[in-house]
Formats: sequence, C-alpha cells, structure tokens
Amino acid sequence: MTAAFNFDVTAIDGAARTGVIATPRGAIRTPAFMPVGTAGTVKAMLPESVAATGADILLGNTYHLMLRPGAERVARLGGLHRFMHWERPILTDSGGFQVMSLAGLRKLTEHGVTFKSHIDGSRHELTPERSMEIQRLLGSDIVMCFDECPALPASDDEVARAMRLSMRWAERSRAAFGDRPGHALFGIMQGGVNRELREESAEALKAIGFDGYAVGGLAVGEGQAAMFGVLDYAPGFLPAEKPRYLMGVGKPEDIVGAVARGIDMMDCVLPTRSGRTGQVFTRRGALNIKNARHQDDPRPIDEACTCPACRNYSRAYLHHVFRAQEIIASMLLTWHNLHYYQELMAGMRAAIAEGRFAAWQAGFHALREEGDVPPV
Ligand SMILES: [Zn+2]
Repeated sequence: MTAAFNFDVTAIDGAARTGVIATPRGAIRTPAFMPVGTAGTVKAMLPESVAATGADILLGNTYHLMLRPGAERVARLGGLHRFMHWERPILTDSGGFQVMSLAGLRKLTEHGVTFKSHIDGSRHELTPERSMEIQRLLGSDIVMCFDECPALPASDDEVARAMRLSMRWAERSRAAFGDRPGHALFGIMQGGVNRELREESAEALKAIGFDGYAVGGLAVGEGQAAMFGVLDYAPGFLPAEKPRYLMGVGKPEDIVGAVARGIDMMDCVLPTRSGRTGQVFTRRGALNIKNARHQDDPRPIDEACTCPACRNYSRAYLHHVFRAQEIIASMLLTWHNLHYYQELMAGMRAAIAEGRFAAWQAGFHALREEGDVPPV
C-alpha cells in the first residue's frame, strides 16, 4: 500500500468540480455518493453488490459500531474492512450527530458527551479523543472530527456556542488523530444558516489544517432553500484544493444542487432506507412500488436502468414481493436505488469533465417534470 492521500480536481464547470481522491485503498471519484453502512452492512446488500453499483466508498457509523459490536472487538477481528468484507475506502462519522440526537439521554460538557445506549441503557462517554481512538480501531480511511450539531431552528447564540465548542473539539481531534499516513482527518464547518458564523468556523478549521472539510449542520430541518442559501457561499470559505463533504444529503435534487455549488462528497440513508419502504428513485422522479397502478405492469421500474431489479423483474413482480413482505423486495429496490444514485453521480462527473453541466442539469430537471411513464 502506498501512503498517499491526495485530491486532484481534474475539471471545474461553474462552481461544480470533478476529480479523484487517491487513497491506499483505492480511488474515490468525485462528486462521490457514499452509501451508508450503519452497523457494518449496507442493509439488504452484499458488499460486492454495493461495489457493482459503482460506489467507491462507504460510510460507517461510530455511534452504532462502538455500542455493538464494539470498536475494540472490530479491531481484534482485523478492522472494519475485513470484518464487513469491504476492501475499498470507508469514511466514519464521529458519533457526535447520533449522540446529540439522543436528547433526553445525554449530558454535554466541555470535555465531551456522556450518554445512555439506546440498545441496553448502558452508560458511555464520547470525547474528541475517544472518537479518534474508535475511528482508528475501526480502521477508517477518512476520519471525521467530533463535533456538536445543533438541530435547526436554533437561536444565533445557540448556534454560535455549539460552533465554537466544535472548533475547540476540532483542535483536540487534530491533536488526538496524530500523524497517520494514508489516513485523512476532515474538519467540520458549523454555523447553521448564519454567514458570519460559517466564515468564523471555516477560518478556525483552516488555522488547524485538515485533509478535507465537511459542511455540517445542514439537512437538519432547515429546508432545501435555506440549505442552498448556505451552499451559495459556504464552500467558497473552504480551501479549493481539498475535498468538500456535505454531510447527510440527500434527495437527488439536493445532491445535484449541492454539486452545482461546489460540493465533492455526500452521504445519505435515503436510497437504502427508501428501498425498504417501497420508494423508488428514477430519472423521472420518485415512485412508490406499493401503489396499485403497478400490480399488472409488466414493464421494469425504468427501461433504461441496467440494475438487476430493472433487467430481470417487472413492476408487477416488485409490487407483489413488496406487498408480500418478501426479503427480495428490499434487496432489489435497494439495489435499484443505489444504482440510480451512482448513475446520477457518474452523469454529473462526465458532464462537468466535458463542460456541459448546465445543460445536464436542465435535462435532469426536464425529465423529472415529465413524471413517471403513463400507466399501462
Ligand atoms: Zn434499476
């Protein structure tokens, strides 16, 4: 394995960029969508199937893995890559976001957060230092700083307090991470929807120095217009030569709008979770396979899609197995959704590389406006 972690921007079109993040475990083509493998699995998918959809990197959750099966156990068993049979890069979150959302179950101090497990009520502590240790034990390739993400709406005072605490924790995260060639540490910008706080946060992170920078604290209930409002300026506060990661986003239209504003990486549970609830994403928008209109329809979800669900099965079959609560419904719909998301990213990468991203975006929106194919 080489020791390099490096980002090359290969083309810029407007504010959108395409490039490659080189890691010892393989290249990540950007803009990149990261499927979420919360507890050491992308639900309903074999890892080789996830790779077949075109994913270069997965996201793992520190909070879930530290509680079950435990980071030390994963380390003894050879690390998360070997444990879950995924040899490509893995990004792990810091656990901060999940812990903060345990409202009644946690206590926040300057030192860190103590909380009760949602699984068995046992007491745990997460600090910047412990989060770095857990992510090292897991063997994460891209490690995220431990931060506090306040739910929106919140007052400017509250957003500022959480942001400044997160910046002090970012400094402790950097110190605890140390020097680990081939592994990256990303800082997380906070500041809600306040431009001055976003800029202050970016300056604090740049002074510490990171391998990449995340835009945190969005997709927490502020709505798409407010999120795009922040993304109109926030990526520009970050170093152009480092990857920019928008955490927890999102719907296809959110992803396209974020890429148009200079974001390089994203993650979301939406394609996988929706696959298990019958919501299907297509070039023509979202549809629900539960709907009775599909029960006699011999056509695939999308004639142009090359995923196994569309190549081999009709809407009628997928409707049937979903209604019958057969496990194959989750498998096929998740596969289709992940395939669609990766096709979306590949389409944007090609369009940016060829300097036709604006036209690509117009086509993306036009086909969605047409809507699903008429019923048979
Ligand atoms: Zn498909």
